[in-house]
Amino acid sequence: MIINVTSYDPWKKVRAEVCFGNVEPSVQLQAITSHAVSIHGALPEYVAFGLTEALPALSAGISYDKIANNKPLMDLHKLNEKLIRLNHLTPLESIQFNFLVSGISKACGAQLSRHRIGQGHVSLSRRYTQQKPEFVYPMLDSVTDPEQVKPIYGVFSAGIQDAYERYQQLRCPVIGVQKADARYLIPVATSTSRHWWINARALRDFFRLRLQPTAESEIRRLAGMLYNAAIAITPSLFKDIGLTSEHNDKVA
Ligand SMILES: Cc1cc2nc3c(=O)[nH]c(=O)nc-3n(C[C@H](O)[C@H](O)[C@H](O)COP(=O)(O)OP(=O)(O)OC[C@H]3O[C@@H](n4cnc5c(N)ncnc54)[C@H](O)[C@@H]3O)c2cc1C
Repeated sequence: MIINVTSYDPWKKVRAEVCFGNVEPSVQLQAITSHAVSIHGALPEYVAFGLTEALPALSAGISYDKIANNKPLMDLHKLNEKLIRLNHLTPLESIQFNFLVSGISKACGAQLSRHRIGQGHVSLSRRYTQQKPEFVYPMLDSVTDPEQVKPIYGVFSAGIQDAYERYQQLRCPVIGVQKADARYLIPVATSTSRHWWINARALRDFFRLRLQPTAESEIRRLAGMLYNAAIAITPSLFKDIGLTSEHNDKVA
């Protein structure tokens, strides 16, 4: 059974209505480590996700001087689960996920960058690209009153639009401030994107920290989206994390 993680995000429609340049996050799994040789009779150029998922178990097999290629995939996936239970986690480093993460705030990007081990990224640069009217607003998931939420988003929206318009003013040919300098005016709400690659072991660690109810809302929502993308193709590596209900919020 695949467990989908959902985040409590009650005011998404209000953001779309009220907020200047509102952008919502997106996650795309662009690549994942795959076999370069044929196993189980599969053609080298056709690599199913099931075979990728078996990589940790296949790697671990060498401990016993065994090549496990002749085992059914299901057994290899079970061996993955056993490795996780035993905390024998190095074989999980043999799979790397490459995500394109878009529509996150600079604040969320800064939190993501705090994770250092088994991963790397390249980010959009506002030194080289013009600021666009694209901003990420807080989820305000602690606000319960629908009457309150619109005016709050209104204040955010007005401040962000003002900053954006002043940026445009600085960038106009008459004043001609460089992008690298003008960006100092832009709030952390600015939408950014990154190519982010991370191995399966580090990704489990990221989920352990960022799917918790104590994690900040935006990165927790992102962690949920990443989790759903990862578990869809390599369930045996992640399902124990999603099985704990504390990671799941009620849907608004
Ligand atoms: C709820 C929450 C609140 C937070 N609040 C703040 C905050 O207020 N301020 C703030 O600055 N940060 C904050 N952080 C960030 C946090 O301190 C970590 O920097 C971040 O979660 C990355 O975790 P990590 O170091 O385990 O990850 P990674 O850097 O990916 O490291 C993975 C693991 O490798 C090992 N490791 C990595 N580097 C070393 C090392 N130098 N020495 C020994 N072992 C190492 C550790 O076992 C570590 O868990 C917060 C994080 C969370 C989840």
